[in-house]
Amino acid sequence: MKKIVFVGAGMAALVASEKLARSGKFEVHVYEKSDYDTLSYDWHDDINKATYIDNGLPLPKEGTYFTKRNWSFIPPSEGVEVTLDIPEDALDWSTERRLLARQYADRAADVVNFHFGCEVEGLIVDGGAVKGVVVGGESVYADLVVDNSGALSKLRASLPSSAHIDAKPSDEDIFVAYRGFHAKVDGAPEPENSNRAYLRPCGVKGISWSIKDPSGTVNVLIGQVGKMSKEELKQSYSRLKASNPQISDDIVRGGRICVIPIRRPLTRMVADGYVAIGDSAFMTVPMIGSGVENSVKAACILADVILDGDSLSPQALWQYQVRYYLDRGANHMGVDILKRWLLSCKPTDLDWLFEKGVVGAREMAAGATGQLITLGLSDIFGKLKAGIGRLDLLLALSGVIGKTQKAAKLGKAIPTVYDERKIAEWEKKVNALFKRD
Ligand SMILES: Cc1cc2nc3c(=O)[nH]c(=O)nc-3n(C[C@H](O)[C@H](O)[C@H](O)COP(=O)(O)OP(=O)(O)OC[C@H]3O[C@@H](n4cnc5c(N)ncnc54)[C@H](O)[C@@H]3O)c2cc1C
Repeated sequence: MKKIVFVGAGMAALVASEKLARSGKFEVHVYEKSDYDTLSYDWHDDINKATYIDNGLPLPKEGTYFTKRNWSFIPPSEGVEVTLDIPEDALDWSTERRLLARQYADRAADVVNFHFGCEVEGLIVDGGAVKGVVVGGESVYADLVVDNSGALSKLRASLPSSAHIDAKPSDEDIFVAYRGFHAKVDGAPEPENSNRAYLRPCGVKGISWSIKDPSGTVNVLIGQVGKMSKEELKQSYSRLKASNPQISDDIVRGGRICVIPIRRPLTRMVADGYVAIGDSAFMTVPMIGSGVENSVKAACILADVILDGDSLSPQALWQYQVRYYLDRGANHMGVDILKRWLLSCKPTDLDWLFEKGVVGAREMAAGATGQLITLGLSDIFGKLKAGIGRLDLLLALSGVIGKTQKAAKLGKAIPTVYDERKIAEWEKKVNALFKRD
């Protein structure tokens, strides 16, 4: 029986390991450095319920989630709030991450060999192929290693150069975020909109949010692209508190710094004996860094490809990457282009786009869910006719939106069969498009 080792018990590993093991065709092991009791995050995050239903997976247990309210987005000047209008039944469920991870681990425990509290120290590489992992100084050989160990995966970084897999994300590809649930200041006024996300607060390349939590606390996030110094965190926190006086300094839950990838997916997720999945393959929506839905989808694709294909060769596993790109990865390339532009434009331009309604609820809802937004020349002329001016900015935005579509088209042109020459050519075009940006 062939052996598959997962590194990290993220949602992708929990879903894919169970499917593969339950087929009875594979011996499946999951190595996770946290203990079962400290698995995943001690807080809730937003996941659309369609993620479970569409993929035939169990819903989170009653009492472990609540329906999220609509987001309000606020540009740097804080002069306007754009509130989304997503109907109640389509809103995300904010789900307790640790309870969800345990629910999925418990469900798989009769067929998957879980090794909690076991950190994988490295890969066994022989002749350019991955042959297994090193855990606790011991070699564990496997026919396939699935890397679900996160954005800063040390396994990915130690692959041989012949794998052509990006070792590390660049600074602009990651979001460094503080997340904490703070006690509420007694008697402080509440904002009208309960889920407020501040774009480029204090002009920094980042976002902050303040969300009224059903637990009676305030859910606080402050993040920046690349790096965030203590001083920068302090400044953004003070600014957030100034607009949201209900936030106290008393941290009830969380209160830690995390790293989230915010870039297009890897152009190579597959090597000989190795597959990257989830944050390790940069599968989050580049605009907002949500990645649970994408990693669950990728897990289902990976399991289907392995079970249908009867081979663990890179040629067979390439279909996993192709299907992921065609399903959503290609669109995320486009969203990455838009994100880069929004981060590089002047904060005053961003204010203008929001204040004049050029960027509104429709555009923000699309970007947040990983969809491409549209703004054609006819839209631009319509806006100019309405007398809002700034032809330069409207044309720049229209140009960027055109580029997002070009990027998505290129993503969809991924070679459908594993041919090293064709893959290298495609990858070169992708890299060129992102280098120029
Ligand atoms: C503050 C914050 C808020 C977020 N909010 C949302 C949200 O609202 N909605 C959403 O969809 N996504 C959200 N995300 C992103 C989401 O958490 C991830 O995209 C998603 O969980 C996929 O991550 P993953 O499974 O690939 O990695 P992770 O969830 O990071 O799991 C990686 C696992 O690998 C383990 N590990 C790492 N190295 C090793 C090793 N060497 N050996 C063994 N185990 C190892 C880790 O302990 C961890 O359990 C948020 C992330 C953060 C940080």
